[in-house]
Amino acid sequence: MQDLKKFIRDVPDFPKPGIVFKDITPLLHNAEAFARVIKVFADRYSAEKIDKIAGIESRGFIFGGALSVQMGVGFVPIRKHGKLPWTKVSEEYVLEYGKDRIEMHVDAVSAGERVLVVDDLLATGGTCGAVCQLIEKRKALVASLAFVVELDFLNGREKLKGRDIFSIMHF
Ligand code: AMP
Repeated sequence: MQDLKKFIRDVPDFPKPGIVFKDITPLLHNAEAFARVIKVFADRYSAEKIDKIAGIESRGFIFGGALSVQMGVGFVPIRKHGKLPWTKVSEEYVLEYGKDRIEMHVDAVSAGERVLVVDDLLATGGTCGAVCQLIEKRKALVASLAFVVELDFLNGREKLKGRDIFSIMHF
């Protein structure tokens, strides 16, 4: 996956001083690189029973949405507080640079369904931990967590211990 790394742009001091933001938009601009990422994910999960793909707002929608079409399974948007119109479950989480609340419609997943969670990047694991709790609150199962990029030095895996995690690129 070394050659995919050239499509990830480092943006220093965004959105706050001291944060190096990993910008995935150059990867999206390149159709071949974008398609490769989706294929790598689809190949990784093709032998597994996946009932739904949950994408985390907002960049998780891009990869999760494309993957869900590729794999032929339904897509669940996990949204920031106040965006979803209907009855929802919610969970608070701590970010690398702040605090937030995520929400999911109560009918998004059913009891016993196996859900693949997709996001662009694993940093501290706070967001994804909260997403797992949302899914489990509805009695569905988190089959695996898939990321385009993982920031190893932030030890997100530690927070998500015991969960199956797959990341295409590591920094
Ligand atoms: P975390 O909860 O710390 O694992 O943060 C993950 C979420 O925040 C993902 O949705 C990422 O898109 C975003 N994020 C956190 N840190 C960065 C970073 N350094 N570069 C780009 N996105 C980030």
